[in-house]
Amino acid sequence: MLSIKSSVLLGFSSLASAITRCGSAPPSDAIRALHSEYEAEENSTSAPENRDRITLSTTIDTYVHIIQHESAPVDLTARISVLNTRFADSNTGFMFNLVSQQDVQNDNWRNVEPGSPQELDMKSTLRQGRYRDLNIYVDTISDGSILGYAQFPEENPDSTTLALDGVVVIPDSLPGGTGPYGLGLTTVHEVGHWLSLFHTFQPDPIVSPDSGCNGAGDYIIDTPAEDSPASACPEGRDSCPIIPGLDPIRNYMDYSGDACLDQFTMGQAMRMRTMFMALRAMSPVK
Ligand SMILES: [Zn+2]
Repeated sequence: MLSIKSSVLLGFSSLASAITRCGSAPPSDAIRALHSEYEAEENSTSAPENRDRITLSTTIDTYVHIIQHESAPVDLTARISVLNTRFADSNTGFMFNLVSQQDVQNDNWRNVEPGSPQELDMKSTLRQGRYRDLNIYVDTISDGSILGYAQFPEENPDSTTLALDGVVVIPDSLPGGTGPYGLGLTTVHEVGHWLSLFHTFQPDPIVSPDSGCNGAGDYIIDTPAEDSPASACPEGRDSCPIIPGLDPIRNYMDYSGDACLDQFTMGQAMRMRTMFMALRAMSPVK
């Protein structure tokens, strides 16, 4: 089972009330355009490719790299189990196969800073598999308020994009971690990004940069618009009252506490499959 020394846990437990679940960079114009295209296509019931995407079932080979922080080795079995359980419960069609797990001793890679030469050095050294394979890095993050971050998929990724591809999560977000984010669902959230999903409260940078109520939002038809991230588990929250639907506070792509989260929607599941097939499954890069 999970075993992390208390010195690691204490470093994050005091931040529980000030954390930002996710440090993923804002989505690019390119992936916004793809989401817009697929949203329109999925809403066209005559599109034959929809039927294929609905039935897609695929296993994603997964490689895990644990940057050691004076902690005991972490048993990843439970964590991959959480990924599989949660993606199966929402009928996404994705399963995750833990191919390998390595413990890494390198002081220079601790407290990784997103976008830094340090991150590129670490990932260039450790990353394995193809663009369709998932690499998860368990590491502390330089901004101590962030639980994890991920890269969105891209068309025709260059070598740097490929090297940086993957998911980073802090050790305390693993199952057994402390505080409201200790059930392992940060990984589920970040893998959602890796499979292209935006936040449920995603603001439209052109139409409505300060609120998710207006504009394109997350380009998913069955996630009601949401003004801003939820926290804890605010039942009945309705941050966009003039738009139908309560906030999707139980959605993995919101910021509610782990105990509150239990859903990808059908629309999100379909979009993940569509994007995976378009951007990752057929990618020629290694
Ligand atoms: Zn996120």
